[in-house]
Amino acid sequence: MRTRLVEQLAAEDIDTLREAGHLATELGARLFLAGGAARDVALGIPHEDWDIVLEGDAPAYARALADRWHGHAVIHERFLTATVRLEDGVSFDIATARREAYPAAGALPVVEPAPIEEDLWRRDFSINAIAVALGSDDWGDVLDPTGGMDDIDSGTVRALHDRSFWDDATRIIRAIGFEQRLGFAIDPETERWIRQAAEGGALQRVSTERLGEAILPLLRNSVGPDALQRGNELGIARALGAGAAFTRRALKGLDDVLDGLAALGEARSAEHRSLACLCALLLGHRVTADAIINRLHLDRFAARGLRSAERFLKTWPSGFEPARRDGDLWGQLRECDFSAVMALWLSTDDAQVREALARYWRRLRGSKPDFSTQRLADLGYPQGPALGQALREAVRVKLSDGASADRQFAVAGDVLKQANSKQNRT
Ligand code: ATP
Ligand code: MG
Repeated sequence: MRTRLVEQLAAEDIDTLREAGHLATELGARLFLAGGAARDVALGIPHEDWDIVLEGDAPAYARALADRWHGHAVIHERFLTATVRLEDGVSFDIATARREAYPAAGALPVVEPAPIEEDLWRRDFSINAIAVALGSDDWGDVLDPTGGMDDIDSGTVRALHDRSFWDDATRIIRAIGFEQRLGFAIDPETERWIRQAAEGGALQRVSTERLGEAILPLLRNSVGPDALQRGNELGIARALGAGAAFTRRALKGLDDVLDGLAALGEARSAEHRSLACLCALLLGHRVTADAIINRLHLDRFAARGLRSAERFLKTWPSGFEPARRDGDLWGQLRECDFSAVMALWLSTDDAQVREALARYWRRLRGSKPDFSTQRLADLGYPQGPALGQALREAVRVKLSDGASADRQFAVAGDVLKQANSKQNRT
């Protein structure tokens, strides 16, 4: 581990951590790299956030570190944490090694300082309960009281005690996330604890914010449909407030999500992946978009997408029937955003309908006439509904008939002339 730690981190990170550890040693405290950051070092994969833990007084240490580095310490006294911000914008979060008491299931814990080993034991899984010492005299030593290194080697997600998921049911969702993302397997006993907690309703007690925070990265990061299918197996569907389990239609929808993303050419975007999964939930659960938005505490972007999906599903209550010609297809769908097209795609089995939706999204979406609108304005036609209609007609003949720019212009002009003469008549 010592060599792997050194190999993994960039040289400048090693220097920073050594300096930070050296100061802790000077102050008689012990500093560690812990949690997911230590796990990912052991796995040899990069980790975004450093999880730095001080056995001692993190706020006091942060002030000293800020002094030494000419930075600025922000202290969160209640949580026993601190952030050191440096002039170059880099920031460094430090937590006091702690014990946590849960006054009630699902509530926020009460925090007190504790030895590092105890801090590691309160964590979610053994793979996240490893610490690497950063002090001058213990640099690189590994603390592994729960057997996390063995579980990393065997690829096992193991909870630390049988009440773990009652203490914090969002760990159920985290377990699925690690399983999917790291290609690990949930240990059978842990899986039993998960089922017991899920069946007992532990997830329903979690606040919407925390649930949303836990589920959304799952949808974004991992192969969403597999993760949700696994979630269904383990009983988390209930937590979405949508009846006892995913309906068959929803599961099929989730299976389809990856296909749909590929068909629409959006498989690589995390935002599209998570919107697609949300659309599958909407379709399968027979719940309103608002119910999902509230339960998962979705942000405005996702909420807008889901509402749009709902609106366009209602526009074609007995299923979307695509027009035969490209111009007309464009006319039907031109106001649909990604979520709406995805929801329509997921709502049908019909290969032709799906092909039309994919064609619209990949090729026709955003089509414009090939002439400049200024040319119409130069003829004295004012902005207004008639102009919009004229431009749409121009796009329609362009897409359906392959009309030239001049022909499109002529068609638009006709629409405007007709609208004008109608107006003059009334
Ligand atoms: P990621 O790669 O998603 O960042 P992570 O394991 O680092 O995974 P974080 O949310 O960054 O997850 O949390 C850092 C560490 O804090 C975890 O590794 C774990 O030790 C601990 N932790 C996070 N959430 C919980 C929780 N719900 N219960 C117990 N410990 C937790
Ligand atoms: Mg992390």
